Amino acid sequence: MSTPSEASTLLPLPRFSAIAIDQIEPQLDALLADNRRRIAEMLAGEQPALAQLALLEQWDDQLEQFWSPVSHLNAVKNSPELRDVYNACLPKLTAYGTELGQHQGLYRLYQSVAESDDYAQLRAEQRMAVDNARRDFRLSGIALPEQQRQRFADIKQRLAELSTQFANNVLDATQGWSKQITDKALLAGIPDTAVALYRQNAIDQQQDGYLITLDIPAYLPAMQYADNRALREELYCAYTTRASEQGPNAGQWDNSGLMPEIVSLRQELAALLDFDNYSAFSLATKMAESPDQVLDFLYDLAHRTAEVAHRDYVELEAFAKSLGAEQLNAWDVPYYSEKLRLQKYALSQQELRPYFPVDTVVAGLFAVVNRLFAVEIEQQSSFDSYHPDVRFYQLKRDGKTIAGFYLDLFARANKRGGAWMADCAVRRYNQQQQLQLPVAFLTCNFTPPTEQQPSLLTHDEVTTLFHEFGHGLHHMLTAINTAAVSGINGVAWDAVELPSQFLENWCWQQPAIDLISSHYETGESLPTSLLEKMLQAKNFQSGMQMVRQLEFALFDFSMHCDMKEADVEAVNRILEQVRKEVAVYPVPDFNRFQHSFSHIFAGGYAAGYYSYKWAEVLSADAFSRFEEDGIFNADTGRAFLQEILQQGGARSAMDCFKAFRGREPTVDALLRHSGIQ
Ligand code: ZN
Repeated sequence: MSTPSEASTLLPLPRFSAIAIDQIEPQLDALLADNRRRIAEMLAGEQPALAQLALLEQWDDQLEQFWSPVSHLNAVKNSPELRDVYNACLPKLTAYGTELGQHQGLYRLYQSVAESDDYAQLRAEQRMAVDNARRDFRLSGIALPEQQRQRFADIKQRLAELSTQFANNVLDATQGWSKQITDKALLAGIPDTAVALYRQNAIDQQQDGYLITLDIPAYLPAMQYADNRALREELYCAYTTRASEQGPNAGQWDNSGLMPEIVSLRQELAALLDFDNYSAFSLATKMAESPDQVLDFLYDLAHRTAEVAHRDYVELEAFAKSLGAEQLNAWDVPYYSEKLRLQKYALSQQELRPYFPVDTVVAGLFAVVNRLFAVEIEQQSSFDSYHPDVRFYQLKRDGKTIAGFYLDLFARANKRGGAWMADCAVRRYNQQQQLQLPVAFLTCNFTPPTEQQPSLLTHDEVTTLFHEFGHGLHHMLTAINTAAVSGINGVAWDAVELPSQFLENWCWQQPAIDLISSHYETGESLPTSLLEKMLQAKNFQSGMQMVRQLEFALFDFSMHCDMKEADVEAVNRILEQVRKEVAVYPVPDFNRFQHSFSHIFAGGYAAGYYSYKWAEVLSADAFSRFEEDGIFNADTGRAFLQEILQQGGARSAMDCFKAFRGREPTVDALLRHSGIQ
């Protein structure tokens, strides 16, 4: 297919004011019915295959543009009415997605394109989109003979049930234990905010005194600050034995039987599709190329971190002894770590806030992005909005609009917490041969300004904003015009965090700090002495933290490579083995961390937990080229733009990385940035 000229562009913005909540569900029903009918008619018709693919993209995009503002409003302007409608629509969309993913006719269409002469005529990005679609069809079991396809579907079904049950057990076990305390003296050392939470918990349960639960906001402060060692031990024991055959609720909500069944079904699933094991199956959609590559990567990091991690631990042990502890048990580690951290780097996030008024940070972020990628960011004063706080900006290059984004910065009622980037529209050519420009939603939950004071950010919040903007740039700066591989679409899962973590680096560099900080009363930039202190605090116990993450990743990945027997002893043995290899301090025999490891047994991280470290390595290594060339080097910025941001998912993540860095990724930069090497 030829490339139409870019003369005609379209910035598709949702008309929020026209969205009527009671019309959403009937409109969705109509849209889905139309799509089903149109797909059936198209497949029965005589149109050329490539024209059919273009139509599919068009219909998919219509659905996407209908749903993305609804989904966004549900997150940022929720109401009981909207939530009901949203919850009623979601299963319909899921069912439609599953139906298309299992559609024999569509599968045959993609196969016919791949096998025809047309294929060679396609642009590389279009070929990638076709290849990905065929891969995903294959991974859904569609190409299997009938009997095996049935078994495949049964396994999927059973795995979904098991995952839900696993998560429910963890939830029930977390909620099924709490510690009532009537003598406030036992809470000595714990910050007032946490004590207030315990008091509120007790009131909610109509109990006297204080109630410590196993939810993280309640559990963690007690482990970090409670001077009472017996209390910490009791909490640790309850927490680390959740959903297992150990601890205070031994045998209740027990995941012991579920884990081996989940793993062996996954192995069977992988075998049906001719993969050696589930780890290999998991890598079929990821940047890492082979199980050995992942294992080598993790063990290499473990090896290089071992000494520093051990040193961290020895330091902590000596510190605890100096404070009178006879020995350092697992339930003492967070407590003494926090004391040591405070002693070494007394620095609170609150002290930093005055240096980061939000408008200075946002303007500084835009200046950083401008210097790196030569784009101007201009606020658009009038647009169809959903809340007065929301701003809209256009991204321009050489005066021409190339993308747009909504920036919704402040926490408020009926808005989901956290920060994220979501796509509103994707870059592609539409049926009128217009270039549709990408649009993003960037959402944060910062403290709103008051009459007296602007919104002041902590440095963590500044970093969060840069992180999400990195995702946003990946979506908005794409030069790809095929929806399925444009922006963040089709990017390998273990490479998606590269641009986001990459951009965070500028929050730690003095020349960038000068752009993003200005004391809201004195106008002074964040002093170098404070930045240095922040950098030291950032790497506190980085060795210990690294090996802990590696322990989780190695347990997950080895288990999905090697485990053949369907019994819980095998699961426990693999974890024990990994701990022997990498952990720096022993955990008690009763610890059953694995029984509540929902990321891999109930979430999407099965044989994928390594991705956290993988992406950190990529972003650190990519940034290290800027350290070599200068952090605002325009040529290096252009290279990152062209080789990574603009490519989207149209080229493999490894090829993108190598094109930018001139070689494969290495772990050196991450280790150096973490103070490990
Ligand atoms: Zn992210």
